Amino acid sequence: MTWSYATHYSCDNCMEHYELIQPLNTCPICGGLLEIQYDLDRMKLELHPKLFDSREPSMWRWHEFYPLQNGTNMVSMGEGGTPLLPSVYAGRMLGLSNLYFKNDAMMPTGSFKDRGFSLAVSFAKEMGITRGLTYSSGNAGASFAAYARRAGLDATVLVEYLANPIKKGIIGLYGARTATLHFESMTDITAMLEQAVKELGLYQFVNFINPARHEAMKSYAYEISQALGWKAPDVMIHPVGTGGGIWGAWKGFCELNQLGWIESLPRMVAVQPKATGPIVQAFNQGARHAEKHGDSTQTIAQSIAADAPIQGGRRVLNAVYDSGGFAEAVTNEEIIEAVQWLGNEGICAEPASAASLAALKRAVSAGTVQPDDCVVCVITGSGLKQPSIIQQAVAESQLELTASFDNLNKLLTALWK
Ligand SMILES: *Cc1c(COP(=O)(O)O)cnc(C)c1O
Ligand SMILES: [Zn+2]
Repeated sequence: MTWSYATHYSCDNCMEHYELIQPLNTCPICGGLLEIQYDLDRMKLELHPKLFDSREPSMWRWHEFYPLQNGTNMVSMGEGGTPLLPSVYAGRMLGLSNLYFKNDAMMPTGSFKDRGFSLAVSFAKEMGITRGLTYSSGNAGASFAAYARRAGLDATVLVEYLANPIKKGIIGLYGARTATLHFESMTDITAMLEQAVKELGLYQFVNFINPARHEAMKSYAYEISQALGWKAPDVMIHPVGTGGGIWGAWKGFCELNQLGWIESLPRMVAVQPKATGPIVQAFNQGARHAEKHGDSTQTIAQSIAADAPIQGGRRVLNAVYDSGGFAEAVTNEEIIEAVQWLGNEGICAEPASAASLAALKRAVSAGTVQPDDCVVCVITGSGLKQPSIIQQAVAESQLELTASFDNLNKLLTALWK
């Protein structure tokens, strides 16, 4: 049996092909982004959706769709395979009969980043990489640190100065080397990293610069389509920072469509903060290239506070346009309300994740999402890692009780009246 159907890297820019098992970041010739390609024709002949039903529920259930060649190199903590929860509250509030939440707050380190790092660290291990680097506003760093530790890989995380102390603490807990990263704009960071690829040859784990990480985000498409009985949703809403999540999901849906396992494709919706949404700005202008936009210190959605996407966000914008989707910007107030709404679903989401529901509310008002559309909002990360926002979203109870039956009886009478 074939463990992986990946065949080679191809460059987005100059179209050059490269052999798969070598530690490449961006294209050695032109610096373009590399994409991992698969033998979909052979997959169509040799694989069938039923094959996957009986496998373990993690994202490794879909290993044929990843570049890892040998299962013994897998570094896994049970990531992926998260529930697709039907809405019990927001759907009713918005008049939607088919709303779901893909709850990646349940991942090993509390965010969907674990999909990407499980794969990227496994693949790095397979290639004999012994150390690596990423930058992070918190979640990517925590995830990288945890998987790297388990793989025995020496991890360095540049932690954005805006990252909250809990997230910084977790990165340290998992044993990464860290430094606080100061910058004016994301363009400073990408310029630094792109030069480091060329001059240091240090293997990086930054989304898109690392060609494996976002391949794992294809598992969203596989898991969601499987849960819906091998049907794609009509709309998938994903918060966007670098865009690795939304781009990977879109690639996954396209593969399933090419294999003939799903008939239709979802419209992909990119969500960013109003304070800093270069993808949204580009979309509103009909552009395929995003310019630097906004101030990333002004949003509570830290994980999607990115004022300039790598290489103009071309991949992300292509996913949005090619799918017939759209891009939506949301304010801090809208995000807090969405955090509260998700509480009514039994979900504790961090602000960047709640942004997807805030965007849905906007889209329903604007008529871009219809009442009978099947909609999936991705809950990318747990609110437990940004507790100050939870405190802000919920008024503390003013009631007190000194333990006695009489007091309890009075309290309940007051509460239930
Ligand atoms: C990283 C992150 C995002 C954005 O993902 P990208 O792949 O960078 O677009 C969204 N939500 C959370 C919670 C994140 O950690
Ligand atoms: Zn190239």
